[in-house]
Amino acid sequence: MNYFNNYRCTRCGQEYEPDKPIYLCPVCSKTYQPGMPLPGILECTFDYAQIAQAWEEFCIAFPDANATQKIEELCELFSPLDKEHYPNLPVGNTPLICSQSLMGKTLYLKFDGVNPSGSYKDRASNLMVAEARRLGIKEIVTASTGNAAASLAALCAAAGIKAVIFAPAKAPPAKLVQIKVHNAELHLVEGTYDDAFAAALDYFATHDCLNRNTAYHPFTIEGKKTGGLELFAQLGEVPDYIFVPTGDGVILAGIAKAFYDLKEAGITDRLPALVAAQSESSDAITSYWENGVYADAIKPDTIADSISVKTPSAAHLAVKALKDSDGIGIRVSDEEILSAQKMLASRTGIFCEPSSAATLAAYFQTLEQAWIQDQAKVVLMLTGHGLKDIQAVKFDD
Ligand SMILES: *Cc1c(COP(=O)(O)O)cnc(C)c1O
Ligand SMILES: [Zn+2]
Repeated sequence: MNYFNNYRCTRCGQEYEPDKPIYLCPVCSKTYQPGMPLPGILECTFDYAQIAQAWEEFCIAFPDANATQKIEELCELFSPLDKEHYPNLPVGNTPLICSQSLMGKTLYLKFDGVNPSGSYKDRASNLMVAEARRLGIKEIVTASTGNAAASLAALCAAAGIKAVIFAPAKAPPAKLVQIKVHNAELHLVEGTYDDAFAAALDYFATHDCLNRNTAYHPFTIEGKKTGGLELFAQLGEVPDYIFVPTGDGVILAGIAKAFYDLKEAGITDRLPALVAAQSESSDAITSYWENGVYADAIKPDTIADSISVKTPSAAHLAVKALKDSDGIGIRVSDEEILSAQKMLASRTGIFCEPSSAATLAAYFQTLEQAWIQDQAKVVLMLTGHGLKDIQAVKFDD
């Protein structure tokens, strides 16, 4: 039993029945070619009136429900799939740590490095593997900078499904080890993540499988929505600001979707301001937000491999999420990222990937602009574990 209605095109508004796998809007994606942001990404719509009623009943029946119970309820109400299809490897319900040890500021740190494969990507893989199980499909393909692949490999292993991975040969070794140890079929692509994205689409065109390329299937966004639902349950309110490490823009779009959905169901009445934390060399979404015109990042080259993207697949949705929420995009340097990574590790006990540390670096930039009020509730999304890329860490001596 779930409240999932339909797929709806985020560009033209056309709705589609969820009876068979569907990716981009067939009308809006006619002109799509690899190398451009995905046109006509679909979103899931729900029966919001029924969700509102079910949530109200839950709150009356369990007035003392703790955060974990609320997370379970919200994630079930707003999921497009029944839990029985989920792979047998729990994902999400990650800790939200309130810290005062970063320059004396009160910050909420959402640490998704503790997911089974060590990153936020498990949230999307969980739902895609569940969809494969529901449909009886035995194989899932994806392109990845590393984490999506490691994640898909792990969750497919839990469900007895074959994972086929296209990843850049330059991906951090630990991520390649994860892919192999879970027995996925690994195709190393000489070139960038964007080349791997195109290679995975080619494979998909000739094989009977699901495609988990990020943003391509609406469930990749729905899966990434759960982190936003969790923030609401853990804080007991909508945070004021959420800093999100941003490459393709799907985590950003997914977190935005959580708050659109909560608002649509009348459970909340406002959106958190979203901040896209980007590497200065992989800044296509920030530039698009600034200029109103899309252009590729010229030459992505950053220590933060997980947010290194030339052509962000969810660029249109990500910029809409920034605008709708009065958010902003921020560019940070590798130097700022590495120093933020060390500060987090030494002062909070959280060892996160460079990509994730970009959020703290971006937050420090906002302090200079005094954009955030002192009492504001600020969340940093720490999306990946630092052990995934130990070569990135720099020591002074
Ligand atoms: C993929 C990833 C991101 C960026 O997510 P996008 O949806 O590509 O913007 C950030 N951090 C980590 C650890 C990731 O794996
Ligand atoms: Zn459309």
